[in-house]
Amino acid sequence: MYVQFSARVPRFKYGYQWQYNGEVGEWLIDYRLEKAPQDEVRRNFSSADRVLTEYPDSLFDFYDPFVADPALFRNFAELGSFAEYRSEEYLTIDDDKPNRVLQFVNRYGDLSGSFAESSWIEMRQLGKIHGCASWFRAAVELQEAVRRSDEDRLARFLEWDNQFRRWTFRHTTVLGAMFNFSIRSVPATWTQKGHIVDRGKEALELTITHFLSRQQFRTAIARQPLGPRTVLTCQVSTLLDAMWMQFASAVADEKQYQQCAFCHKWFSKGEAAAGRRRRREDQTFCTQSCRVKAYQHRQTKARQMRRNGTKLPDIARTVATDLPTLKKWLGE
Ligand SMILES: [Zn+2]
Repeated sequence: MYVQFSARVPRFKYGYQWQYNGEVGEWLIDYRLEKAPQDEVRRNFSSADRVLTEYPDSLFDFYDPFVADPALFRNFAELGSFAEYRSEEYLTIDDDKPNRVLQFVNRYGDLSGSFAESSWIEMRQLGKIHGCASWFRAAVELQEAVRRSDEDRLARFLEWDNQFRRWTFRHTTVLGAMFNFSIRSVPATWTQKGHIVDRGKEALELTITHFLSRQQFRTAIARQPLGPRTVLTCQVSTLLDAMWMQFASAVADEKQYQQCAFCHKWFSKGEAAAGRRRRREDQTFCTQSCRVKAYQHRQTKARQMRRNGTKLPDIARTVATDLPTLKKWLGE
């Protein structure tokens, strides 16, 4: 059976900003209402607490991260910290991280789901978002360690407790901290010494299962837009849930990812996004558009260096091209 996952993630058309909320004592992601048409704001927001009952098309656009950005969880993971637990306590708004979180939100929307959910405010808090990103960061690190069968890296997550004769998650990682609160019983296999790579695989599965278990889906069967096939669709409700589902499918399908050399977006190797041409295995750019932009960027850089009086061989080395090509670019 073929199951297709989807999400409808809203993005505020006029962007987001940080706003300090004294009631919760935290910086919150907030809409830049002052940029939006004021009659639309008045119509849709109740003024005091900025509550919306729905996402009106006049103020939000929507996208599906499963189609547009299948490896978005990798970009989100980069906003987290691997080693520090409760690192949100040490984040201040002037750090680089909040700035990058805001960039992410402006590009991909905020993590919260429907306004009816109690987590709506919570999922806009700087500390909470950073905490979520840190779980992804640690889980991605664990996935890499498993994929490479890297025992040293796995030892940052798991250790054999000789006294209690079982494997435990180490406290030093964010996953370790999460696990020691939430996992009541350890799998039976964890009481045998066995091999750390197998335990690592199980740890990764437990981690992802933990986050998937909170998800709510709206399922339906529907005809695909192109072609006669009827598929089972599963709509997840928030951007955060969508990223855990992406991660789960990446682990289940043993997908490998690489980062675009131009826009730094992660994409899965050898798999094309919907409607685009299939990539070659060695491709370094996420799209043809990024390939072109990277090429133009090198040319611009070369001309700029030439204007500043840099010698041709030095330019060639910096922009990674040969001399005849360089001369053609510069018209010399
Ligand atoms: Zn790119």
